Amino acid sequence: MREKELYPNVAKWLEKEHKCFETGINKGLKYSRVDVVGVRDVGGDLSGEVEIIGVEVKAGRSAFATSCGQAYGYKVYANRVYLADIREEGFSHEETQIASNLGIGLIQIKGTRIREILSSPYYDPYANFRLRMLECLHLGTCRLCGSCFKLGEDRRYGNLARENVRKAIQQEKGILCWNRETSERKRSMGIRDGREDTTYQRRFICPDCVYHLLSQLDAGE
Ligand SMILES: [Zn+2]
Repeated sequence: MREKELYPNVAKWLEKEHKCFETGINKGLKYSRVDVVGVRDVGGDLSGEVEIIGVEVKAGRSAFATSCGQAYGYKVYANRVYLADIREEGFSHEETQIASNLGIGLIQIKGTRIREILSSPYYDPYANFRLRMLECLHLGTCRLCGSCFKLGEDRRYGNLARENVRKAIQQEKGILCWNRETSERKRSMGIRDGREDTTYQRRFICPDCVYHLLSQLDAGE
């Protein structure tokens, strides 16, 4: 069994067991890619907070602590990190100790059956990496209500109108807007390079906020 053949089953398991509404395979930034990633709602009734779960998948042939290290590295992007590996008889006592020591969860793969053996602690990655990982999955955070929502399907920002409130209302879309001041500040401090006449500081407002709130500003006309 090759590692990649295990990914879809792990993704399905994340949807079912961890209630992930979105999953992705081999997603990430230039620094590293996560084998399987899932996103789930954890904010209760008063917040749209989501959690990212990253899983390193192995096919039973890799050095255990090295694999654990890879899984641990996912905490740069993810709130919870797991190593999923093929084990007919489960993980050994020492393997569980190593995983506990590093602070990663363990998932046993046995044929088509998948089982969580050790849960992952919670990690708090920098917003920079967390939000970009979400964007890889075509998800963004609304700057009004704080909820996570789909930015687009095949087209990256297909569900958004670009800095055009009226168009967003008419088409029942969200809004994509850019911030120039922050962009200029980051450029002047050498934090962000890129073209001088371009801002990369993108922010989103969800279709729900446009439809139910912003649309009221247009009602008087
Ligand atoms: Zn919103």
